[in-house]
Parts: sequence; structure tokens; C-alpha cells
Amino acid sequence: MAFKERTESNLLKCLRILNIRMELTEDERRYYLNLKKGYEGEIQFDLITEKLQSNCLILNDLQLKANNTTSQYDTSIIFQETFHLFEVKNFEGDFCYEPDKLQSVKGIDYKNPLHQINRSTIILNQLLQSHRINFNIEAHVVFINPEFTLFQAPPNLPFIYPTQLNRFLKKFNTIHSSLNNFHKQLAGKLVSLHQTESPYALLPKYEYYQLKKGITCKDCQSFLISVHGNYALCSECGCKESVESAVIRNVMEIKLLFPDRKITTNIVYDWCAIISCKKRISRILGRNFKVIGVHQWAYFKLVEFIDLMIDIMTINLVCFVLHCPYERHFKHLSMCFVLHRPYEGHFHHLFHVFCPSSTL
Ligand SMILES: [Zn+2]
Repeated sequence: MAFKERTESNLLKCLRILNIRMELTEDERRYYLNLKKGYEGEIQFDLITEKLQSNCLILNDLQLKANNTTSQYDTSIIFQETFHLFEVKNFEGDFCYEPDKLQSVKGIDYKNPLHQINRSTIILNQLLQSHRINFNIEAHVVFINPEFTLFQAPPNLPFIYPTQLNRFLKKFNTIHSSLNNFHKQLAGKLVSLHQTESPYALLPKYEYYQLKKGITCKDCQSFLISVHGNYALCSECGCKESVESAVIRNVMEIKLLFPDRKITTNIVYDWCAIISCKKRISRILGRNFKVIGVHQWAYFKLVEFIDLMIDIMTINLVCFVLHCPYERHFKHLSMCFVLHRPYEGHFHHLFHVFCPSSTL
């Protein structure tokens, strides 16, 4: 298990929702698809690094800052002697190498990722030095897509091609590595320095009224959903989801796109569009969120620690948990969190685990 798990960024989540609910321009859509493809490539690489058997600490998706410059680290692996950085590229098709760029056969230019890893190495070095840590850093570019070919590249570059990935795994598995407290503290320090950026400045402009309303399918994103008893059924792909889970998923969409809006029965009723009974929505919200106020002024809020979990969005929390005075509760919570991702509507259950005396 990685020391720091990868999670989908809020930027990508927002763009996915906007792509379904409004007309993006061609540039906005390309930006979204590039981000999505990059993320898929990183997940592919995670499947490989998960298989590493030598003693190491894997930190996925770090954003670090030194001297007012920020750099993104797709995958970092700490071994006894060396800190390995990996920039993952999910390029597909035939490309030509040129010192300042990679050019696809379609004539599209991409920055040479060598420059990117050089910059990342410098920033990480500065950061470590500012904490009086000296550690050997090696940076690599991983081309993860099996359909990728690069022509005219010198053979001595720190590039790992798709056909070399298995050999890479074998080579790293032979590294003799013994980790101690220094390595764990280093990993913990970097996780604590991880920067989370607000996605809103990078999103296209959108207003609530512009967005298409309705529950979308959790699998195929289609709007062809109808409610049958306790289930929302998709006539496009046959997916079946409990109405409660679908409503909570949609509440999370509203919260993500409009963080300043209060979650009221009316707004969720309007957003979901296909649930005819407001009382049903109100009951679902009451079971899963904390009610603030009464009657028509009531709105719903996630309890604080669950808010925290949504921000972190993964079991990274476990690391934090170990230092938490409520360790016993959090351990239970982490287990639940592994089993049920928060978007699947298990807040009620989680809340009970954490606050067994709660009457919610
Ligand atoms: Zn579907």
C-alpha cells in the first residue's frame, strides 16, 4: 500500500461534471480530456508500483513548493539510498524526439518532459536542503501507453518506455533497501508539505442556471435515469443504484461546483430533477447530513471530520489517524472508508461509527 495514495483532483472532478452538464468549448474539452488521460496513465503506473516488493515508500501525486515555485510529482519512491521521481506520460501514437520538444506525427508539439523532470529535481533539492536533508535524487520519465513509440531519441535519456516497464519492475525489485525512521519522517514531512490548489481559477465560467439538471448514471454518465422504488435505473447501460446513493452523489456535485451554496432540500430537488417527492429528498439529506436550522430555513451540512475526509478523499487519513487521540474510532472509520468510498452514500453509517451515541 502506498504511503500516500493517489486521488482524483477536484479540478478533474469538476471538469467531468461540467462536461456532462454544459457545452464546453473545443479548447476546454481538450484540456479536460488531456487531464483525464494523464490521470488514467498515472493510475496505470500505480498498478505497476504496487507490485514492488523491495522495501520502499511510495508517495503518489505530490505537489511541492520551494522558493515560491511549485512542482507536481506524479510518483515518488523512497529507497534507502535514493529518492526516485517519476513523471508519467500517457502519450499515444508515434512521436519524434527533438531537444526542446516531442512532436506527434500529427504535428502537435509537446514540451520535452526532460525539462520538466530537471525542474522538479531542482525544486525538490531546494526543498530538502531548506529542511537540512541531503538525499540522492534520480528522476525518470515513464511512457506508460503501450501504443507509444518515440523516434530519434538518444538511448541514454532517463526514459522508461512501455516495453521496458517489466524490466524496470524487476530491476527495482532487486534493489537492496532497508528503511528506518529517517525515511518515514522524510515521507511524512513531504506529505505534510503537499499543496492542494483550488481548482476554481482553472475552470471555465459556469452558472447554476446554465447547467443541465437531472441525476446522471454513475457508470456511463447518461441522463437516462428513472426511479423505480428504492433504485435509480439507467436505461443506457442497465446500471442500478440506490436512490439514496444517487442523491448523495449529486449533493457532492453541487458542493463541489458551488462550494458557497447551502445544501437545501429545494436545491437538491431542483438539481436531481427526477425525484418527484421533496419529502423523500429531505429524509435522505436528514439521514446523511447534519441539519442546521428548522423548516424552510433548514440546510444540511456534512459533519466536520467527514468534510476533512472528503477533502483528503482517501485512506491517507490512516496516517493522520495513528496520531489521533480518537485512534480507536478512527481505526474503525478507516476500515469503513476502505470499504465504502464517501460518494457511495455511507455518511450515515460512518457518522454512527465515529459518534456511536449520535441520534442521527
Ligand atoms: Zn448508465
